[in-house]
Amino acid sequence: MSTLAFWGAAGTVTGSKYLIESDRARVLVDCGLFQGGHDLRDRNWQEPPFNAASVNACIITHAHIDHTGYLPRFVNHGFRGPIYCSAGTADLMKILLPDSARLQEEEADYRNRHKITKHLPALPLYTEQDAREALKLLQVVPNTGAPVRIVKSIEAEFRIAGHILGSSQVLVHIDDKDESRSVLFSGDLGKYDQPIIRDPVAPPAADYLVIESTYGDRLHDIEEPKDALERIIKDAAARGGAVLIPAFAVGRAQEILYFIRELEEEKRIPVLPVCLDSPMAAAATQAYARRTEEHDAEFADALKTTPTPLRTHSMLACSTRDESKRVNGMQGARIIVAASGMMNGGRVLHHALRLLPDENATVVFVGYQAGGTLGRRVADGEKQVKVLGQWVPVKCRIEKIGGFSAHADWKEAVRWLEGMPSPPRRVFVTHGEPDAAQAMAAHIRDRFGWTVEVPQYGERFELS
Ligand SMILES: [Zn+2]
Repeated sequence: MSTLAFWGAAGTVTGSKYLIESDRARVLVDCGLFQGGHDLRDRNWQEPPFNAASVNACIITHAHIDHTGYLPRFVNHGFRGPIYCSAGTADLMKILLPDSARLQEEEADYRNRHKITKHLPALPLYTEQDAREALKLLQVVPNTGAPVRIVKSIEAEFRIAGHILGSSQVLVHIDDKDESRSVLFSGDLGKYDQPIIRDPVAPPAADYLVIESTYGDRLHDIEEPKDALERIIKDAAARGGAVLIPAFAVGRAQEILYFIRELEEEKRIPVLPVCLDSPMAAAATQAYARRTEEHDAEFADALKTTPTPLRTHSMLACSTRDESKRVNGMQGARIIVAASGMMNGGRVLHHALRLLPDENATVVFVGYQAGGTLGRRVADGEKQVKVLGQWVPVKCRIEKIGGFSAHADWKEAVRWLEGMPSPPRRVFVTHGEPDAAQAMAAHIRDRFGWTVEVPQYGERFELS
């Protein structure tokens, strides 16, 4: 008898961890970091709810930290098995995990230097060395649907999920002594028709389905993200104000650069200085350019006329901290793209400290803002927020561009499900805040009449 337990992305969008236990093996699908409020982040510090050393292998759907960022800690706790992922995911993990470790170390260091910690000394959750140990376990597998042996009794098939470079939906086949079962994990599901990477491919048949629900209760804006960017940048240029775009270094940052370059070439906006203030985003941009097998037709076409479709016409280097500080001190119309996307760490905080109180500045949210993050507070219109331990007033303009999300909204998720060749026995809706997950469950029941569950944290189901 096999079971599936939900140790993350239950009641929240972060910390994805799904544990499959069969008669013969234990496999963890995704190994994400919890992000957001204190209660969630505390879980990263607790002992893992299952013995890390007893897990035979990990399967990773995609590189985002909320799906991979717990791996260094997990390895530190004794996990030694292989970590299976696509080539694009491995490229990005090699950038993201050490960076996540550096952020943990820098934050602990900052708290110690400024004595803003309840724990003396503040320790990082893990170090860059831990991240390097985790990366040694990576095993690259094709993203083409070909079966891959994970452990003796478990196989997996990876297919493009269209969310970020390398992102995969993963079908897991479990062979128990007397029966076999399959579970399809949607991973994070991309939007259709977004630039650069391919659309999600149709899902294969499966006995069980685990589907994300980040936008289970919402539809994306009708305003095209590119049109919204044009409007906001023209307005800022006219006023001579700064535009700060907190963006995930991977995926969102590349799309923004792609659209700004197009808008410049189409003469719809003036050419402004653009600072991509994230060494990680710069490295990810190279990974995107290199993995030609994941490019959609439009991007492949753009490459024929422009050698660098992911560069705007006046890009500033911001790889070092000094360069970043110089950009922070600049005046006039300019665009700063900085991680992290939810303003819960990274260089964006230093820009936020300066620009949130600036009436002439615009902060543009282009991705999902999880509850408890600084980004969510600012997006929700709080008038005063704490940044790097200091209270600052929020006087800048706030804009939100919904259509930029890397996640399918509920109609797109239903469109993807319509491609399933046969109904699953049971569907588990995860990776959504409670209202979104319940709404997604209701949409699936209404449209297909399938049996749908919304699992709780730590809940375990028999795959009978
Ligand atoms: Zn993701």
